[in-house]
Amino acid sequence: PSAPTTRVIGRLDLRGRHLTLRELKAALPRAEFDVEAALDAVRPIVDDVRARGAAALYDAAERFDGIRPPSLRVPATVVTGALDALDPAVRAALEESIRRARLVHADQRRTDTTTHVTSRGTVTERWVPVDRVGLYVPGGLAVYPSSVVMNVVPAQLAGVPSLAVASPPQADHGGWPHPTILAACALLGVDEVWAMGGAQAVAAFAHGIDDGADVCDPVSLVTGPGNVYVAAAKRLLKGLIGIDAEAGPTEIAVLADDSADAEHVASDLVSQAEHDPLAAAVLVTDSTELADAVEAALVRRVAATKHAERVGTALAGTQSAIVLVDDLDAGLDLVNAYAAEHLEILTRDAAAVASRVRNAGAVFVGTWSPVSLGDYAAGSNHVLPTGGCACHSSGLSVQSFLRGIHVVTYSREALHEVGGHVVTLARAEDLPAHGEAVLARHPDLDPLG
Ligand code: NAD
Repeated sequence: PSAPTTRVIGRLDLRGRHLTLRELKAALPRAEFDVEAALDAVRPIVDDVRARGAAALYDAAERFDGIRPPSLRVPATVVTGALDALDPAVRAALEESIRRARLVHADQRRTDTTTHVTSRGTVTERWVPVDRVGLYVPGGLAVYPSSVVMNVVPAQLAGVPSLAVASPPQADHGGWPHPTILAACALLGVDEVWAMGGAQAVAAFAHGIDDGADVCDPVSLVTGPGNVYVAAAKRLLKGLIGIDAEAGPTEIAVLADDSADAEHVASDLVSQAEHDPLAAAVLVTDSTELADAVEAALVRRVAATKHAERVGTALAGTQSAIVLVDDLDAGLDLVNAYAAEHLEILTRDAAAVASRVRNAGAVFVGTWSPVSLGDYAAGSNHVLPTGGCACHSSGLSVQSFLRGIHVVTYSREALHEVGGHVVTLARAEDLPAHGEAVLARHPDLDPLG
């Protein structure tokens, strides 16, 4: 098929251009309204929660979610009642999603290691879960019971003793979070659920909230996906709390050659564009024929899809594009520079190509592994870094909830053996008191007598 006249997605032709990494990064499709830009909107919300506590949460709910929740803490009977009323087919699907996620995440558990550095001198690395986490479950344009599974399963397997879930109050559901979200919490045995959304929920977790009879203790770590405002709040509060990664508006990149099925590519691009007008859908290919066929399929699919307006906005945004490259090597350079949240490899010998990917939140290999499988039921985690953060951060895992603590245990003799070097290095750094702490124990090590 020839290129359609109505453009639903931009094109970027990088063929014949030999860009440096810096030039390549500057050319990548990115959203105009990004996490950095959202910081200005989020700062006053976070400040208000810190200053006014629960009152700020109720006001923000009214302003952003269109309803004041009856209370911030969702009563236990409402949470368990949602599970009782859950559609059995949805319950079965959630249970299978939980089962597969548990299989994968159980394998991520770490055991403590003890290294005998010298005779009677050991360093043990102890993996200790954080005391308390706040798990964010989105509920704005769509609602995400799957994100309850993706947050809670690794947190529980890591052994976190205290778990709290927050999700926006829903005007259609009496101001409580969506019933399927509550049901998923009940299914996983989570009973602390808060009707709070957006940046204000992240701030409430970070500072703690006193809502009369209900107190939300501050958490050490906030994890979970969200829109650009949630991601901005995580960036703003990082340090006071730990975060998993900036898991903001969804991105899909597809690296494909002329062997790919244009309908598969187009349906996968639409599936992720459906999340958010700021979602990014990027096709990287060396085949003009595939590019044209995908674009023709997109025109048809966008017109027919339920959330056509949102999808159309996402595809037309500066964050989405079909990028033409000279060959697969150039394509790999591009997707590695882009560091997509989700990367599909739809090429000949897809596994070999996928093994050369260095930067991505998660990689989906071949025709039968679409991103939407990973969104719900592959067993992999769907809370993944966005905005290029995949070049330094991982998706959510058991590891996200653990800290490695070094425990140092040396005997008198073991300290004596290496103490002279400590004294020498302390003097070389002009921090002689460091050396004196060793000399107080072993005066004979003083090189100056
Ligand atoms: P959400 O819960 O993330 O956001 C809703 C909240 O955003 C509202 O409660 C409100 O407080 C806040 N908000 C809305 N407009 C605002 C404004 N103008 N100023 C300040 N705050 C405002 O739900 P959503 O909107 O449906 O977004 C879900 C997001 O999660 C999507 O962007 C989706 O792509 C993303 N997601 C990411 C991943 C990942 O791992 N990266 C996974 C799943 C979903």
